[in-house]
Amino acid sequence: MSKPESTYDVIVVGAGPAGYVAAIRAAQLGLKTACVDHWTNINGDPSLGGTYINAGCVSSMALLESAKIYDLMRHGLADHGISVENIKLDLPKMIDRKNEKIARLSRQILNVFAEKKINYYHGQGKLLNADQVSVTPADGAKPIKLNAPNIILATGSTSIDLPCAPIDNEFIVDTTYALNMTSIPKRLGIIGSGVIGLELAGIWNRLGSEVILLEAQESFLPIVDHQIAAEAYKIYSEQGLDLRLGARVTSAKKTNNKVVVDYQNPEGSHTLRLDKLIVATGRKPNSENIAAPEAELLLDENGYIHVDENCCTTVPGVYAIGDLTLLGPMLAHKGLEEGVFVAEHIANRHNPINYNIMPSVIYTDPEIAWVGQTEQALQAIGQKYRTGTFTLKSNGRAESIDKTEGLVKIITHAETDLILGIHIIGANASELIAEAVLAMEFSASGEDLARTIHAHPTISEVLHEAALAIENRSLHLP
Ligand code: NAD
Repeated sequence: MSKPESTYDVIVVGAGPAGYVAAIRAAQLGLKTACVDHWTNINGDPSLGGTYINAGCVSSMALLESAKIYDLMRHGLADHGISVENIKLDLPKMIDRKNEKIARLSRQILNVFAEKKINYYHGQGKLLNADQVSVTPADGAKPIKLNAPNIILATGSTSIDLPCAPIDNEFIVDTTYALNMTSIPKRLGIIGSGVIGLELAGIWNRLGSEVILLEAQESFLPIVDHQIAAEAYKIYSEQGLDLRLGARVTSAKKTNNKVVVDYQNPEGSHTLRLDKLIVATGRKPNSENIAAPEAELLLDENGYIHVDENCCTTVPGVYAIGDLTLLGPMLAHKGLEEGVFVAEHIANRHNPINYNIMPSVIYTDPEIAWVGQTEQALQAIGQKYRTGTFTLKSNGRAESIDKTEGLVKIITHAETDLILGIHIIGANASELIAEAVLAMEFSASGEDLARTIHAHPTISEVLHEAALAIENRSLHLP
C-alpha cells in the first residue's frame, strides 16, 4: 500500500503499542507522520496493534474470559442455586469471538490513524541510514523509500526458540498458535512457568486440559515478591495446574501422534507423553534485518538495540522503543509510554519516564500485580522496611462475590513510611494496582493510604486495610 508522499517529520517502524502510540502522539504534536507495519492476519489483511492486539494480551484475555464462563457454568453455579444442563463448548466459535475483538481493536487504530492523517504502509520497514527507511510492501509490490529526520524503531519481540523442542505448530506449538488451537488437548504440556506460560495454563486448564508446566528454575516466579509467588503457587496448584519446578526440558519430539518430552530435575530423568506442548520460554527483540549494515545501528549480542536514557540509538535521529531495548521490562505499557516520550522529545518537550514506578501484571485468574520493590530486593540491599498485609477473604465485597483468594502487601520505609512497593494477588489486581502506582507517583506514605477513604464495600478496601495493618490497626482482621 504505497502512498504518494515520501518525506515525513517522523517515520515509525512497527505498530504495536509502542509504535502506534508514538505515531499518534507525533501527529497530535503537528508532525507529519508515517507508520510502517507488516502484520497480516489470517485473511491476508493488515492488522495493526502488534503482538499485544494480534497474538498476546487481547487474545489471552478474550479467551480467559470465555474459559472462566465455561468453568463457572460447569463448577461454580450450584452454590448460587442455579443448575444448567447440556453445557456445550464450541471452541472454534470461542476463537472467532477472540478474532473479532482483535479485528475491532485493530480497526480502531486504523481509524485514529486516518483521523490524525498518519500515513500507514503495510509492509516490512528497514532502516537504511539516519534518515531513510525502505518499505517492502506486503502485497509484493516494488520496495519504496521514505525519508524523515526522525525515525522510531518499534518492531517489538518474538518468542525465543528452544532448539530441543522444535516448533511444528501441530504438536509442539508456539505461544501464538497456543491462542488459536481449535481442539482441546487432553494432556497439555507447557515449557516455562513465566508470565506467558501461566496465562496460557489458566485458559486451557479451565477449558478442560490436564496442564503440566515444566519450569527449569527451582523457584517459582522469582521476579514476583516471594510471599505473593508462594500464594500464587498454592492457588494455581489448587486450581489443578501441575507445576514442576527445577524441570529442565532436554528433548521434545512427535511420536505416534503424541509429543514425547524428556526433562531432568534433581531426582533424575523423566519422560512425559502429551497431546500438545507449548513452548513459552521467553521473548527476544525483533531486530534481525531491522537495519542495513551501512546504517551502523548498534545491537548487543542478544539483539537488543543500544539506547541512552532518551531512547536514542547510536544513529543520530533514530530512536528505539518498547521490547527492542533493555530500558525497562518487556511490557506493553512501558512501550506505550516510551512512544509518547519519544514523540514529545522530537517535538522538544522533555517529559521523562519514571521507570522505577512501573506496574507489572500477570493476567491469570486471580491476577497478580505489583509496583515498586519486592521484600527480597530490599533485603538484598539491607534496606529496613515495614509491611502490612491483608487477605481478600477478610473483605466483605470479595466474600459476597466468591473472590476470596489472595492478599495485598504494602511495604514502607522503616523510618519515613514512604511506600516502597505494593504487591497484590487477587481479583481485580490489575485495576487495583493503579491506585498503588498513583500513590507511589505522588510519594505517598503508608499513613496517607491508611487515611484515604475507600468506598465500602469494595475490593479496593484491601489496600486501605493493608495500609492500616502496617501499624496493626486493620479493622476487619480477626
Ligand atoms: P519468561 O522469561 O517470563 O518465562 C520463561 C520461562 O521459561 C523462564 O522461567 C525459564 O526459566 C523457562 N525455561 C526456559 N528454558 C526452559 C527449559 N528448557 N525447560 C524448562 N523451562 C525453561 O518469558 P515469557 O513468559 O515467555 O514472557 C516473555 C516476556 O514477555 C516477559 O518479559 C514478560 O514479562 C512479557 N510479557 C508480559 C505480559 C504481561 O505483562 N502480562 C504478557 C506476556 C508477556
